[in-house]
Amino acid sequence: MTKGKNAIITGSTSGIGLGIAEAMAGAGMNVMLNGFGDPVEIEATRADLEKRHGVAVGYHAADVSKPDEIADLVATAAKETGPADVIVNNAGIQTVAPVEEFPIDKWDAILAINLSSAFHTTRLSVPGMKERKWGRIINVASAHGLVASPFKSAYVAAKHGMVGLTKTVALEVAEFGVTCNAICPGYVLTPLVEKQIPDTAKARGISEEDVVRDVILDAQATKQFVTVEQLGALAVFLCSDAAAQITGTALPMDGGWTAH
Ligand code: NAD
Repeated sequence: MTKGKNAIITGSTSGIGLGIAEAMAGAGMNVMLNGFGDPVEIEATRADLEKRHGVAVGYHAADVSKPDEIADLVATAAKETGPADVIVNNAGIQTVAPVEEFPIDKWDAILAINLSSAFHTTRLSVPGMKERKWGRIINVASAHGLVASPFKSAYVAAKHGMVGLTKTVALEVAEFGVTCNAICPGYVLTPLVEKQIPDTAKARGISEEDVVRDVILDAQATKQFVTVEQLGALAVFLCSDAAAQITGTALPMDGGWTAH
């Protein structure tokens, strides 16, 4: 079912996106990687995925805050790894600051990268998916797409917006064999989370150790981080036949965080 499908995964040079790329390539899907990083390391990752899984793996350096670069990503993927059957909107950034001090340029960047990029990949890929009568749009939102935390106004707004976009698109494409769902992870120990520990410590006036224990893991009932392998498996499941009737949802994988 998933074998031979073509996926574009934004922000897949690191963290969750890379975990999803690994899982999708492992399920026999061709993958177009995207994101920033050291070109030598990215090429090594690309070649390794291709060799180990025997699928086509490409890379495109689009900055997904720029609609014209997203258009080039989608067009290049169609040529190099095949027209997108699966879009994983995963690229994301974070800034932690009180709302009255929130840097305006960071607000704009978070909205562009964490929300508007998903609109652009979706609008560019839906026509082909509808034509082929099959498609999967997977939006990597967050538990912060369902609940808020202080000092993350832009991120929480963008992720709630992504859940709204997910529901709307799901309704529009429902009769064309295309599903659209949001995955809402709790905390995953990736560079994105590691980077915000010092800022959260500053914003709350507590130590970095206290941030991990009392802020990050306090939110998760299991007291464990979610792993990128678990999220990769969920994304592959959403591409399966078994998931054909799951659409318009916001699926938490958050160790019980949003059950509170
Ligand atoms: P990460 O920092 O490890 O990876 C982010 C990826 O996005 C990288 O590949 C980076 O190069 C790419 N990226 C950033 N800006 C980009 C841009 N302008 N254009 C193209 N690519 C860009 O972060 P992560 O933790 O793996 O986060 C991935 C997604 O998961 C994000 O949307 C994040 O909000 C979401 N998420 C993360 C967590 C967590 O705890 N880590 C929890 C819930 C949701």
